[in-house]
Amino acid sequence: MNAPRFHDGDADADIVIVGSGVVGALIAHQWAAAGKSVLILEAGPRIKRADVVENWRNISFERRLGSDFQGPYPQSPMATAPLYYPPNDYVALSGPDASSYRQGFIKAVGGTTWHWAASCWRHLPADFRMQSTYGVGRDWPISYDDLEPYYCRAEEAMGVSGPNDAALQSPSQRSKPYLADMIPWGHGDATFAEVVNPHGYNLIPIPQGRMITPWNGRPACCGNNNCQPICPIGAMYNAIHTVEAAERVGAKVLDEAVVYGIDTDDNNRVTAVHWYDAKHVSHKATGRQFVIACNALETPRLLLLAANKQNPRGIANSSDQVGRNMMDHSGFHCSFLADRPLWLGRGPAQSSCMVGPREGEFRSQYSANKIILNNISRVPTATSQALKRGLTGKALDEEIRRRVALGVDLSISLEPLPDPANRLTLSKTRRDGHGLACPDIYYAVGDYVHKGYDKACDQLRHIGSLFNAEEFEITTALNANNHIMGSTIMGADPRSSVVDGDCRAHDHPNLWLPGGGPMASASVVNTTLTMAALALKAADAMGRAA
Ligand SMILES: Cc1cc2nc3c(=O)[nH]c(=O)nc-3n(C[C@H](O)[C@H](O)[C@H](O)COP(=O)(O)OP(=O)(O)OC[C@H]3O[C@@H](n4cnc5c(N)ncnc54)[C@H](O)[C@@H]3O)c2cc1C
Ligand code: SF4
Repeated sequence: MNAPRFHDGDADADIVIVGSGVVGALIAHQWAAAGKSVLILEAGPRIKRADVVENWRNISFERRLGSDFQGPYPQSPMATAPLYYPPNDYVALSGPDASSYRQGFIKAVGGTTWHWAASCWRHLPADFRMQSTYGVGRDWPISYDDLEPYYCRAEEAMGVSGPNDAALQSPSQRSKPYLADMIPWGHGDATFAEVVNPHGYNLIPIPQGRMITPWNGRPACCGNNNCQPICPIGAMYNAIHTVEAAERVGAKVLDEAVVYGIDTDDNNRVTAVHWYDAKHVSHKATGRQFVIACNALETPRLLLLAANKQNPRGIANSSDQVGRNMMDHSGFHCSFLADRPLWLGRGPAQSSCMVGPREGEFRSQYSANKIILNNISRVPTATSQALKRGLTGKALDEEIRRRVALGVDLSISLEPLPDPANRLTLSKTRRDGHGLACPDIYYAVGDYVHKGYDKACDQLRHIGSLFNAEEFEITTALNANNHIMGSTIMGADPRSSVVDGDCRAHDHPNLWLPGGGPMASASVVNTTLTMAALALKAADAMGRAA
């Protein structure tokens, strides 16, 4: 075991990692276990699961209905994350679809997987070659086959269960089975599949970072449906599990350490990063290899903030692509009352998804989509709807039961294309607790997504008709899905991309920028498993580069 060395508040380590989310934590664990000294600098505080559970228990009904998943998390005043109840204006959005890019993420040891839903999808092989297959978007410099072994390793590291029947997988190209078979479906998922699957929608189980048996120190998932904003018992994977495993093999985590500066030498190798502690005292960490894993919004912000004499446009930014190509799966919802009871809300918050519209020739024209059958308990929505009808007593009780039994909420994701105009820049006016510029983001979803929305609406109306839907509604405003991608985009050509296929910065031989930023296409599925696979691929490449 090797530990970082400290002197007068400064540090030195073989590997310095900025950010303790799943991406940083996986790399930290790999290298600390291999005997390297590893220092993690994390902007946010250490938090206690029980405190978050208690905060959520006491949150107002209005904020619960609005899914205020950021609200229950304690924050450092020196390192704020976006808040929406009320908005704290940390990220200023502009552009025609500004409101569809209201991202949520957590600044705390363990990062944003504290309140994710743990859906663990893989990209499809075609997602890596969008330009050569469909003539839109970009190709990655790596293929699905290059990443496949790392997908398997990421699933092992995060404890992912999923369907071992190939007919229920998307994609089905797998070199290994899941660690454990799928979490059994509830009545709602099974009934929904019986109705829609004969019509080509292909409702399949979502691969999950949770299991129905205890696994690697985590308890079994008991199906209480509280996954967002916090799994009260820690059955759901959360990067804090990997952070703690890394600490057990020698990694050192400094919390409330906000990195703001990056030094480079004459060969543009990174030599040190600078951080502020909670009292705004500046420190320096020297090292041999550096990883920036702050998520795809905070990583470009830091690279731009850290511009220095040799890199006046920002670190890793000779291509001028840092902060561009920002993506997220634009989302919307469809709700209705079905003609038969589904009783959604037993088991994990997301358990099944229609992947039929995920792939096809149409992607040369418009966005694919995926349609999640939301398994979040219908009780708050049903209660609010029943109360609005002025009911009381037994009638109120019966109406809530009816709506909980029949209520359906479909959550639809659309696939954006990378567009350099969708860009993060540094605010000229707004500053965080340390006086560092806050992020500004311009966002337009583009015609490809708008056309995909129209096609998805046709599918939704058809699905509604299969259930003789009452109170059928489709939302028109697009929402964010918190799958931030593209801002340090990957490519073979250093003139038009930031990192190579190992997430190594083209400009700096010892700087690694894994996570969502390098992703050159979005697919329509949740992205964290791909980020984790890229992290593990980068970790191996760091070994070869050392
Ligand atoms: C409500 C919600 C549900 C989600 N559900 C899913 C899902 O089901 N499936 C899925 O695949 N994805 C999901 N996601 C997305 C997923 O949570 C993220 O993709 C993932 O957590 C990103 O991991 P990361 O390590 O890149 O970044 P993060 O987890 O965000 O960690 C980055 C860390 O870096 C730290 N940091 C930032 N700046 C600095 C700095 N200057 N100095 C030091 N530290 C810094 C931050 O404090 C943070 O702790 C969801 C997200 C949300 C918000
Ligand atoms: S269903 Fe309950 S136990 Fe299972 S992951 Fe979600 S919150 Fe945790």
